[in-house]
Amino acid sequence: MKKLIFGNFKMNMDLKQTEEYIDLFLPKVASSKNEIAVFPAFTNLMFAKQKFTASKILLGAQNLSAEASGAYTGEVSASMLKSVGVNYVLIGHSERRKLFLEKNDCINKKIKSALSQGLKVVLCVGETKYERQNKKYKMAIEKEVVDGLKGLYENELKNIIIAYEPIWSIGTGVLPNGKQIEEVVQIIREEISKEYSINAGKNIKILYGGSVNSQNARQFAYVDGISGLLVGGASLKADEFAKICNI
Ligand code: PEP
Repeated sequence: MKKLIFGNFKMNMDLKQTEEYIDLFLPKVASSKNEIAVFPAFTNLMFAKQKFTASKILLGAQNLSAEASGAYTGEVSASMLKSVGVNYVLIGHSERRKLFLEKNDCINKKIKSALSQGLKVVLCVGETKYERQNKKYKMAIEKEVVDGLKGLYENELKNIIIAYEPIWSIGTGVLPNGKQIEEVVQIIREEISKEYSINAGKNIKILYGGSVNSQNARQFAYVDGISGLLVGGASLKADEFAKICNI
C-alpha cells in the first residue's frame, strides 16, 4: 500500500548542497510507489521545484505566516509559497512551538491561511516526555488537535494530515512502541470523530515522526492506522532517505 514519506530538512543545506542532494536522490527514488515530499528551507524551494519538474516528488515548506500580506518583516505568506509551487506546509512542529513560542491559536490561524491558498497542511502534534510519564499525553494531544483545527469545516479535512511526533522521540533515538503509537492514533481519530463525524475520524491521515531511519522505517510505516512517515535527521542524507522512500 502506498505510504506518504515526508522529509523535513529543517535549517540545513544551502543551494549547492540542495542541488547535490537532489541529483543523488532523484534517480534512487524514481521507481518508488510511495508519495514523497521534501521540505527544504524557504530559500531552496523554488530551485527544488524546478529540479522536481520531471519527477513525482512533491514540495513542502517548513512554516508560513499566519498573515496574508503586509508589514510583517521576515515572514513568508501562503500565497508566496503557492506561487513557487509548494504543495504541503508543516504547521505546529514542536521546534516552532518550543523555540518560537507558537501557540495553538497561531497554529490555527496558519492552518486557515494555508488552506485558503490551496496548500495541504501537515499539522504536527505530540506530547513531551513529562506529559508521557505523567499520563497527561492524551489531554495534550487532544488539545493540539482540537485547538489546531478549530473552525475548520469537515470538507477541509481532506487537505489536513496529522503528524504524530512524540517530542521525546524527535532527534533522540528513543522510540515508541507500536502499541503506544496505535493508542495515539486512536485518540486523534476519536477527537476528530467527536468534533466532526465518525467518517472524518476514520479518514484523517496520520503520519508517525520521531527518530525514523532506514532500519526502523518499515516497522513504523506499517503500524495500524499510520499512513506514512515524517522524517527529520535521516532525511538529510540522500542515500538514507531514499531507502526510507523505497520501503
Ligand atoms: C522531526 O523533527 O520532524 C523529526 C521527526 O525529526 P527526527 O526524525 O530527526 O527525529
